[in-house]
Amino acid sequence: MTSILAGAPAVELEDVFKVYKEGPVETVALRGVSLKIAAGEYVAICGPSGCGKSTLLNLVAGLALPTAGRVRVAGQEIAGQSEAERSEMRRRSVGVVFQSENLFPRLTVLENAQLPGRLLGSSEARALAMAALESVGVAGLSGRYPAQLSGGERQRVAIASAIALSPALLLADEVTGELDTRSGQVVLDLLSRLNRDRGLTIVAVTHNPAAADSADRVVNMLDGAIRETELAR
Ligand code: ADP
Repeated sequence: MTSILAGAPAVELEDVFKVYKEGPVETVALRGVSLKIAAGEYVAICGPSGCGKSTLLNLVAGLALPTAGRVRVAGQEIAGQSEAERSEMRRRSVGVVFQSENLFPRLTVLENAQLPGRLLGSSEARALAMAALESVGVAGLSGRYPAQLSGGERQRVAIASAIALSPALLLADEVTGELDTRSGQVVLDLLSRLNRDRGLTIVAVTHNPAAADSADRVVNMLDGAIRETELAR
């Protein structure tokens, strides 16, 4: 069992490098990134395409390991964990939502939202899924399939699924990228509310200036490094 160290930052990167090797070609995606995110903080990661934002998010999610440096989530160093521990961390402690394709098309909304809790037994998973769908305002759509939802509704279901097991940390990669302004704003308002009401720590990679506006802090990246950070509100 991993324990949460009291007072540890929710996320901590210390001099992190990530180099992708494809045959003789090396791409340095992160070059010495250090960043601390406090529990309950809402941080937007901004910067041009290719600057390393998704790589940073993948490292925090435990989907990839750094080439050098340390990545800690709730005080636990990711590189020190086994693959099984990392996937347990992703399942229980970290919710992840992407730009699209978060849902299984052949499963209903409720079945999708139940997936994170599938090891808990069906009635508990169902109760957690329904509570999460209610908290994002889409419980009425529980019997539909993803293709029968608008883009904004799909993202709300994806967020419900990501928070069904009450993780402390939500990682969001361009979640409003494919939405029109109005649906995007509904999703952004939802993230702000989850941050405010549940103390959910949020790290959101975004190109959307409105998304950056709803964060506590904006971290601007350029060419694999943090260029500056600014308080957004
Ligand atoms: P962003 O999210 O800011 O667009 P990424 O983290 O996706 O940036 O990419 C950073 C750099 O790393 C880019 O040059 C990209 O081409 C490269 N990169 C990302 N993922 C891989 C991968 N799996 N293999 C090789 N290069 C990659």
